[in-house]
Amino acid sequence: MHSTQKAHLFPLESVPHASPLTIRTPANTTATTPVQQETPLPASPWRWDVDQISRHTRTDYTLPCCLCGSHLMTSIEFAPNFPWVTSDLRPWKSKASLSMCSTCGLLQKCTDSRYGEDVADIYATYSLDSADGSHDHLVVRAGGFKARASALIERLSEYGVSLQASGSILDYGCGRGAFLRAVSESLPGWSMMGADLTEANRIDVEKIEGAEYTTLSQLPVERRYDVISLIHVVEHLQRPTEILNQLSLMLTEQGVLLIQVPDFSKNPFDLAVFDHVAHFSVQSLKNLANLAGLDSMVVAEGLIPREITMVAKPKLGRPLGMQATDGPEETLRTLEWLSNCQQQAVSLNSSGDPFGILGTQVGALWIDQASDAKATFFVDEAPRRNSEKFLGRPVLFPSDVLFQNRVLVPFLSEYAKPIAARLVEFGVYPVLIRSP
Ligand SMILES: [Zn+2]
Repeated sequence: MHSTQKAHLFPLESVPHASPLTIRTPANTTATTPVQQETPLPASPWRWDVDQISRHTRTDYTLPCCLCGSHLMTSIEFAPNFPWVTSDLRPWKSKASLSMCSTCGLLQKCTDSRYGEDVADIYATYSLDSADGSHDHLVVRAGGFKARASALIERLSEYGVSLQASGSILDYGCGRGAFLRAVSESLPGWSMMGADLTEANRIDVEKIEGAEYTTLSQLPVERRYDVISLIHVVEHLQRPTEILNQLSLMLTEQGVLLIQVPDFSKNPFDLAVFDHVAHFSVQSLKNLANLAGLDSMVVAEGLIPREITMVAKPKLGRPLGMQATDGPEETLRTLEWLSNCQQQAVSLNSSGDPFGILGTQVGALWIDQASDAKATFFVDEAPRRNSEKFLGRPVLFPSDVLFQNRVLVPFLSEYAKPIAARLVEFGVYPVLIRSP
């Protein structure tokens, strides 16, 4: 392999501690517009040079693309102190790196043997109680909170995918059955099969009315299903094309695959999840469907916020060629947003006042790892989280936050602004992340 100069994209240790922010106090706490910093943070002294990164494309790359097999990869290296986390919300000390395929556009982890060993370790010790629990994440829907899986089923009909009163579903990578539980509530006439790596999920899944459970190695391949769902599964797969192709053979004549993946361009913290092999865009997900012999009927961003949904069926006729995707600019913007986020947390901490972070998921964990800034508390708008602890610190409702305490809202501005408006109504002082 030729030696290639690599840019270190996340020199966290070189970030100077910014001076305390000047913050305008809102005159009226019932205002619905979020509060912004009066003076923006100084520009980062270590901006990434996109042109320089682009030149790192090399054809002698030892690892082919995990989607299309191309060797034309652009590598993106991280500084040694970039914090990595797992999808079940643990800090992970090993290092990963990203590469982007110039052929199919998929952004992916470099899946060398060391990475494979780490991922095996993560799954061997995977916590069923955190990210993949029996209860689903809640999303804001129609003015209230709704389980993500229920919201997904509800919204599919808006995209022309109507599920009949009875049918059969295989949930591939079902975890403890969050999606099947929502199916049993919305579509009680359906027969359900959950499949996952180990026996650990069996008891939870079999408690669901009408649900069976199998390990992936025992999956009865002769059965046929009207829907095969992969909810936050495909991003974990090192051979996604092969798996989807095999699953497509288990569909009934009118059957569809339902695929849900994170959208890293809307949720930057997804890049820091060690065991997420692939980071899809709409186009690279369409390319995956095409390579797996599928016709993508629906590919929608934001059907569930910050996620991409695809409904696909086996394709008739010849496969289409892959479509080119954007270069690494989106990825670099996303990484820059992460560094702004880290700087903002450091600034908040340097004020010496207590502050909180909104959320109890990967974003809050990453910020906690990315800086010495330790939030005093976390804030969750969803009812269930209240009175729990996260990283050993209290999780508060917005109404329980002390008046004018600052709370970092670690979302892109399009999502952060409505959240900030809600927080202001509770007298909370929201702090937003600067856009790159
Ligand atoms: Zn590729």
